[in-house]
Amino acid sequence: MPRLSRRSFLAASAALAIRPAASAPAAAAAAAEVDVVIVGAGAAGIAAARRIAAAGRKVVLLEAADHIGGRCTTEMRTFGVPYDRGAHWIHTPDLNPVTKLAPRRGIEVYPAPASQKVRIGRRYAREGELEDFLALQARANRAIADAARKGDVACAQALPGDLGDWRPAVEFVLGPFGCGKELAQVSAVDFAKSAERNTDAFCRQGFGTLIAALAEGIAVKLSTPATAIDTRRNVAVETPKGTIAARAAIVTASTNVIASGGIRFTPALANRQLDAFAKLSLGSYDHIALEIADNALGFESDDLVFEKSADSRTAAILANVSGTQLCLVEVAGSFGRDLTAQGEAAMVDFAADWLAGLYGADVKKAIKRSHATRWNHEPWALGAFSAAAPGWQGARRILMEPVQGAVWFAGEAVHETLWGTVGGAWESGERAADAVLRRLGPMKEPAPAETETTLKRKSNRTHTAPRQRRRFQAAPNITREEPR
Ligand SMILES: Cc1cc2nc3c(=O)[nH]c(=O)nc-3n(C[C@H](O)[C@H](O)[C@H](O)COP(=O)(O)OP(=O)(O)OC[C@H]3O[C@@H](n4cnc5c(N)ncnc54)[C@H](O)[C@@H]3O)c2cc1C
Repeated sequence: MPRLSRRSFLAASAALAIRPAASAPAAAAAAAEVDVVIVGAGAAGIAAARRIAAAGRKVVLLEAADHIGGRCTTEMRTFGVPYDRGAHWIHTPDLNPVTKLAPRRGIEVYPAPASQKVRIGRRYAREGELEDFLALQARANRAIADAARKGDVACAQALPGDLGDWRPAVEFVLGPFGCGKELAQVSAVDFAKSAERNTDAFCRQGFGTLIAALAEGIAVKLSTPATAIDTRRNVAVETPKGTIAARAAIVTASTNVIASGGIRFTPALANRQLDAFAKLSLGSYDHIALEIADNALGFESDDLVFEKSADSRTAAILANVSGTQLCLVEVAGSFGRDLTAQGEAAMVDFAADWLAGLYGADVKKAIKRSHATRWNHEPWALGAFSAAAPGWQGARRILMEPVQGAVWFAGEAVHETLWGTVGGAWESGERAADAVLRRLGPMKEPAPAETETTLKRKSNRTHTAPRQRRRFQAAPNITREEPR
C-alpha cells in the first residue's frame, strides 16, 4: 500500500529535598528560603530543576496537578497499556534533548514508520494520488516560506489558490494537525521558522513515562499551585500551602494559564508581555482513544492514516500504538475545539462514525474501551500547544526576557523553532535555568562531589542510566516528596 513520507507532511511545513512549607505565609517565607522556585513540573520545569540541582543550588519544584509531566503524561489504568494523553511523537530523535538523556533500562525508544497512508472514501490512495498530495503540500509549504520572507502574514493568505479537491486535506495536515489551529490563525513566520520534524520515534512505555523517568530523584511538591508571584523584594511565591521565598523563579505554566490570570504578578506584568502570552495562545489538539479488538481494520503497528476530506470535519488516526489494540483518533483546530466542548461521549461518537465512513460500519462492533482527552478544559493547561497569531512571531522572544531580573518564563511557547514540542519545552527549561544560574553567580562554596556510594544507592532506587546520573553529580540528597 502506498505510503507518504512524514517529511512531506510536516517538514516544510536538593539540595532539592524541600521542606513542607508552613501554613502561615510569613513563617513559610522565612523558613523555606531557596535559590530558585520553579512553577510547573512538565518537561520545561523538570529540565530546569535538573540543571539547577546539578549546579548545587537549592530549588523547589511546584506542580499544581497531582502528577508530573503536564502535557506529556502516560497512564496505564484506562486501557492496561501505555496511553499518552498528551505528547506521543518524539520529533527528530537524533537531535531531541530528551532522547539523548533517555535512561536505557526499562525505556525503549524505536523509530516511527517513515510514511503515512491516505484514505479516499473506502479505499487507500493510489501512488499517483499520493504524489499529487505530496506535490501540493510541498508547494503550500514553499508558498508559506516565501510569504514569511516578506512579512508576517497568516499562513492561509500564502496558500496557492489551485490546491483543488486536496485543499481541505492539505489545510488539515498543515494547520490543525501540525499547529492545533486553522492556517488563518497561524503566523507564516512562526510556521516557517519551526524546525523540520522529518524523523520521529516512539517510546514503547509512553513519552510521559520517559519524561517521568528523567524526573527521578527530583523532589516535586504536587497539588501545590503557585497563585501569586511578588518580585518587589527578592521573589515570594504564594501557594495554598504557604509562601516560598527565593532569589529567582522560573515559570513554565502554559501561555493560556498565564493569559487567563492563573498566577497574579506583583508588580503586574507589562502590557507587551501580556500581549505576548495572548498572541501565543494554545491551539486545540486531542486524542480520542479507542481500543479496537482483533485488528478489525487490518492496521500495521503505528500506522498513521489521513483522509482526503471534503471539509474541516476530519481527523487522523494513529493505529495499533506500539503494536497494541490502542488507536488514537486525532481531532484538532476549530472543529476539534467545538467537538471537545460537547464532551467525551460526543467525541467518541464522532470517531466511531468517522471510522465507519472510511472502513465500514462493522468497525463500531470492534470498538471496546474508549476515552477522549479534552485539553482545552484541563485547568492547568487550557489547551494543547502554542502557535503565534499572524504578525506575532516576535512574541516568543518577548517571553525570553526576564521580569524584574528575577522571573524567567520557560515552556514550549518560549522556543522559536521547537515550539509546540516536548523537546522545545525541555530546551527552554535548560536555557532559563542557565540564565538564572548566571544571575545567581558562582557558588560561595563548591557543592560536595557525589560519592560512588551515593551514586550506587541512587541507581538502585531510581533505575537511572549512567548518562543521566552524571548530570546529577553535584546534587546530593535528592528526594521525591510524595503527594499529600
Ligand atoms: C494532545 C497533545 C498532543 C501532543 N503531541 C505532541 C507530540 O506528539 N510531540 C511533541 O513533542 N509534543 C506534543 N505536544 C506538545 C507537548 O506536549 C508540549 O509542548 C509540552 O509537553 C509542553 O511542556 P511544558 O513544560 O512547556 O508545559 P506543560 O507540560 O504544560 O507543563 C507545565 C506544568 O505547569 C503546571 N502548572 C500550571 N499552572 C501552574 C501553577 N499555577 N502552579 C504550579 N504548576 C502549574 C501544569 O500542571 C503542568 O504540569 C502535544 C500536546 C498535546 C496536548
